[in-house]
Amino acid sequence: MLTNCKSSKLDFRKGRKIPICSECGGSVSLYLASKEVVAVRPEASRSDYWIACDEPSCINNYGDYMFQEEPDWVIWQQPDDCPGIL
Ligand SMILES: [Zn+2]
Repeated sequence: MLTNCKSSKLDFRKGRKIPICSECGGSVSLYLASKEVVAVRPEASRSDYWIACDEPSCINNYGDYMFQEEPDWVIWQQPDDCPGIL
């Protein structure tokens, strides 16, 4: 489980937008492909980063390695507290 890899977790946002899983609407986390992450997600060794949905029951909870662009299942959402401000 990636919950063992909290030290690898990065702050992942674009301006004030936050990443959301398009499959379940859950939050999405970006991890450094550290030793701990590669131990549970061997594919992470292909890249510097690993990205996964935080929802344990979600199909995207396993996650994907990431190069320049995040996977298609990541959508960017404006927080409710600042509508219309980019
Ligand atoms: Zn999800």
